Amino acid sequence: MNDFPLALNNVSFHYASGGLGIDDVSLSCKAGSWTALMGPSGAGKSTFLYCASGLLPVENGTVSVAGRDIAGMRESDLTRMRRDHIGFVFQDYNLVDAFTCLQNVMLPSLFGGPRIKKERAFQALSLVGLDGFAGSYPADMSGGQRQRVAIARALASQPDIVFADEPTGALDSRSALMVLDAFSTVVEQGRTVLMVTHDPNVAARAQRTVFLVDGKVDSVCEGYDAEHLAMHLADMTSMVAGRSRR
Ligand code: ADP
Repeated sequence: MNDFPLALNNVSFHYASGGLGIDDVSLSCKAGSWTALMGPSGAGKSTFLYCASGLLPVENGTVSVAGRDIAGMRESDLTRMRRDHIGFVFQDYNLVDAFTCLQNVMLPSLFGGPRIKKERAFQALSLVGLDGFAGSYPADMSGGQRQRVAIARALASQPDIVFADEPTGALDSRSALMVLDAFSTVVEQGRTVLMVTHDPNVAARAQRTVFLVDGKVDSVCEGYDAEHLAMHLADMTSMVAGRSRR
């Protein structure tokens, strides 16, 4: 496994409609590391995640995934890279309602992705506290349970890098703890987690928190507890709000 499975250098992306996106951002993530992305709303956190995972094409810079630059890669190669190295937890889960939980977790392998053994899919469901839900359908589950199915799916293929956009957004505190413990386990296995969160308690579980403001990296905090992360975020948010009032 690569020492730095994820490395972005001087990456920019602006939306065609004029949205800011991200501007000249660089960040590297070591194997077996856990990074949280925080910042005021509109700071570019989701855009960063999409660029880093190859879901959005970057305008400038390089995005190295498992040692290969995916910026400018052909779509078929990019699909293979994502399939072999990346797990993505979407904010809106992206589950297929007609499929059971187990089938949703195994979805990537049904579409030519990595082969996920049934046993591993069951383990992934168990890791997020969904033992006994394999045969349930998303429509019969709560938002928090659906979110955990999406997380199980991202973990089941044992990707080098797990990207997660607000992975605990719909979870009660007990389920959130389960998901954070699951991330802890995959990090201990040497995998890399990069997650967007607005919750300082969640970010505090990561080894470091990168703060974005106006599409740029503002600061990197290592070893901060939830209270200090909350204060840092509040300072940043009031600075941005104050500027927009002027
Ligand atoms: P965050 O995740 O930090 O809230 P985003 O990455 O969603 O920030 O957005 C960063 C900036 O890009 C914001 O100014 C937002 O308005 C803009 N933006 C995000 N998505 C789009 C889009 N689809 N079209 C145009 N602008 C967008």
